Amino acid sequence: MTYDPNNIFARILRGEIPCKKVYEDDFALAFHDINPQAPVHILVIPKGAYVSADDFTAKASDAEIVGLIRAIGTVARQAGVTADGWRLLSNIGVNGHQEVPHLHFHIFGGRQLGHMLP
Ligand code: 5GP
Repeated sequence: MTYDPNNIFARILRGEIPCKKVYEDDFALAFHDINPQAPVHILVIPKGAYVSADDFTAKASDAEIVGLIRAIGTVARQAGVTADGWRLLSNIGVNGHQEVPHLHFHIFGGRQLGHMLP
């Protein structure tokens, strides 16, 4: 899938659309999901233009991959979910019900989450 530079998260990265930012570094931006499904529901996205985890793991540099994963851990600790547990999720493509075609990881926490069944 070709990257759409006008997808909503690309526009958030460019500052064209506001977000409730919780973290930013050279590799990643994290912000609250607009429609939270748990007390903590944060999205962590790479700054690079990657459609999904498929695209990212195929094309991103090691520094970008390490940077994004490290940012996810930092955001989770900052959000206070690590003591009780949390969930990391990335939907990919049509079968995965991915809505926004810029790679994003969901961080869910703050309550007992449901079982993870397809
Ligand atoms: P997906 O199904 O692609 O994994 O999830 C996309 C997520 O992005 C959804 O949870 C949705 O609520 C969130 N989302 C969609 N548009 C916006 C937006 O403009 N701002 C923020 N903060 N979240 C959004």
